[in-house]
Amino acid sequence: MAISGATPKRSSLSSVFSRAGFSNNKKKKRCSSFALSSGSSSSMGYDYMDDEDGTMEMVQLGADRPKNVLILMSDTGGGHRASAEAIRDAFKLEFGDEYNIIVKDVWKEYTGWPLNDMERQYKFMVKHVQLWKVAFHSTSPKWIHSMYLAAIAAFYAKEVEAGLMEYKPDIIVSVHPLMQHIPLWVLKWQGLQKKVIFVTVITDLNSCHRTWFHPGVNRCYCPSEEVAKRALFDGLEESQVRVFGLPVRPSFVRAILSKDDLRVELEMDPELPAVLLMGGGEGMGPVKKTAIALGDSLFNKQQNKPIGQLIIICGRNKSLASTLESMEWKIPVKVRGFEKQMEKWMGACDCIITKAGPGTIAEALIRGLPIILNDFIPGQEKGNVPFVVDNGAGVFTRSPKETSKIVAEWFSTKRDDLKRMSENALRLAKPEAVFEIVRDINELAAQRGTLAILPYTLTSSFANHLFM
Ligand code: UDP
Repeated sequence: MAISGATPKRSSLSSVFSRAGFSNNKKKKRCSSFALSSGSSSSMGYDYMDDEDGTMEMVQLGADRPKNVLILMSDTGGGHRASAEAIRDAFKLEFGDEYNIIVKDVWKEYTGWPLNDMERQYKFMVKHVQLWKVAFHSTSPKWIHSMYLAAIAAFYAKEVEAGLMEYKPDIIVSVHPLMQHIPLWVLKWQGLQKKVIFVTVITDLNSCHRTWFHPGVNRCYCPSEEVAKRALFDGLEESQVRVFGLPVRPSFVRAILSKDDLRVELEMDPELPAVLLMGGGEGMGPVKKTAIALGDSLFNKQQNKPIGQLIIICGRNKSLASTLESMEWKIPVKVRGFEKQMEKWMGACDCIITKAGPGTIAEALIRGLPIILNDFIPGQEKGNVPFVVDNGAGVFTRSPKETSKIVAEWFSTKRDDLKRMSENALRLAKPEAVFEIVRDINELAAQRGTLAILPYTLTSSFANHLFM
């Protein structure tokens, strides 16, 4: 946006700029930038634009530049990254170059223990579920997690600040329960909390941890009414809360190939019904036992032929993949590691068996896959079980034998059940959620007006701020 009336001639202004230490080079546009009040509270900066006809305009900095969106995530499981990528891709599809999207684990890059080691600690804890259960529930009271996060914030404030300074976000999107408090404190200390838009996108469908909820956010996007109720109960205002659904990568929604084409592309049997077996990004849960049971139940001994095929996606669990690959199967089986095109595998199958991971559930619903939930992580995934079962989109059983029996029935005598659950899944799906979220963020940005270059600076001491 050009400042109206301010179209001074090159000769007069160029001398001013050169005195100020900026060279007057002959680039067609955007020669140099000049912050009239750099670091001031107004944060108003101006650019000097040099047109071919020799006139020059002062342009408010930030008017034309893409807005920086920093998405804070962590690879604890696969769901946070999947949601971050979904938001990134939806921004690109909806707004092209208007936004510059950066997906980062700022904790891992900039801080020290325990923040930079969350992935390993999370993996260890969820393997020892009782430990995770205690950690989840004991940190639930607000005063406990607030004190803990405040202490960590005080310790790592400078490092987090350095991360924010590097990316200079106009908008911060958190898709992780531990990424509200610390960055919001840092923004407050920087005096930037009214300038930077901060939103939380919750990636748990029901029983989420209370660290997700922070009253200082501009928006809290909840994937379900149940989560929205929790947000309001925890002190957020209705104006902060929006319910669109869990963000799923646009590739699940747009440009979907037919099942027949996908099966050709993925070299699957074209006719046999297919079940997809997985356990989140880490390949967790009773995957191996369930695969073995399915190997039996999907083979018709009387007719000596398979009644179904099995796709096993092991995610980052390499030892699981190599164990399953070395086994002999009587039915067609494909064992895969971490897949980047989950939408294709889901599109090629007829039902799915998974732990109750919210990302996988939301994706399966969009593809209309009936779901057998065979496990859940205590705490945040527990509520996902009634979400699926009570809505008629799937069943829950921890028994591999029972699971394999259900799939065999769905593929033979109970095809109607499979069809009904598929319809229910599609009804529950929220394919547009990610687009609604980015459009709402775009509206928030528009309401803020022109975003000027933000004066991120290093704070000399955080101790005073913290105990104020
Ligand atoms: N995922 C993937 N490739 C894989 C395995 C999993 O992209 O090989 C994705 C999956 O599509 C989902 C996410 O990882 O989006 C898993 O998220 P979920 O919430 O189900 O479980 P988590 O791994 O976070 O516990």
